[in-house]
Amino acid sequence: MQFLSLAATIILGLVLGFLTNYFADTLPATGRLGKPVCGHCHENLAVRDYLLLKPCGTCGKLRPVRFWIVFTVYAVAAVLFWTNPPQRVGVWGGLILIAYFGTVFVIDLEHKLILRSTSAAGMLICGFLGWKMHGAKETFLGALGGFCIMLVLYYLGMLFTRFLSRKRDEPIDEVALGFGDVILSFILGLLLGWPGITAGLVFAVLAGGLGSGIYILVNKLTKEYKSFTAIPYAPFLLLGATILIFVLPVTP
Ligand SMILES: [Zn+2]
Repeated sequence: MQFLSLAATIILGLVLGFLTNYFADTLPATGRLGKPVCGHCHENLAVRDYLLLKPCGTCGKLRPVRFWIVFTVYAVAAVLFWTNPPQRVGVWGGLILIAYFGTVFVIDLEHKLILRSTSAAGMLICGFLGWKMHGAKETFLGALGGFCIMLVLYYLGMLFTRFLSRKRDEPIDEVALGFGDVILSFILGLLLGWPGITAGLVFAVLAGGLGSGIYILVNKLTKEYKSFTAIPYAPFLLLGATILIFVLPVTP
């Protein structure tokens, strides 16, 4: 019985990983959940070929490396949930949450984009889980706080970019923070509540700083350094929320 339920959990994790991959392949390319597309050339794939993990008929490539990483991460996460159910959101809440987190994480990393469709889903998922965890008031205040704090950072980032482009006398089209990050911060505010969202944002800013530091260092070492490259921020926001929801112990 134990073995069966472990096997079922792993399968559930793989199904969720598959769905996350499907969202990450299809949503940025077509904007909706229709026919699956190839992760490389974004041409349509037959549903059967997609399900059977067959190579793409157009470019001949197999799934991107990300596909297998996501698969592995979700199988491991499902087993972790099985052995140690998330106390704050429960097993089902946890599984739905990581599917949402993973989709936003991958799409932002690959396209530097936070889509409206995933944000709408996130509002529903995080609004519901947040309301169950902290009640309506704390959930609402968390969202408001997350939105306002990130909005200030967004404008500061814009000022900084403008200052930099004036100083160098060349336009910079990349933004330090996108408005999608502000919306994501609103959504994570729903989930983490007030004052939880402040901890989530502090973590994201610190991790983001560390991440950019490492990125600049690696690029300098490989001599590819450009002094202004926007890094996707959603992964850091999501990492902070993941630690707060799944890793930190619940205080009685
Ligand atoms: Zn292809």
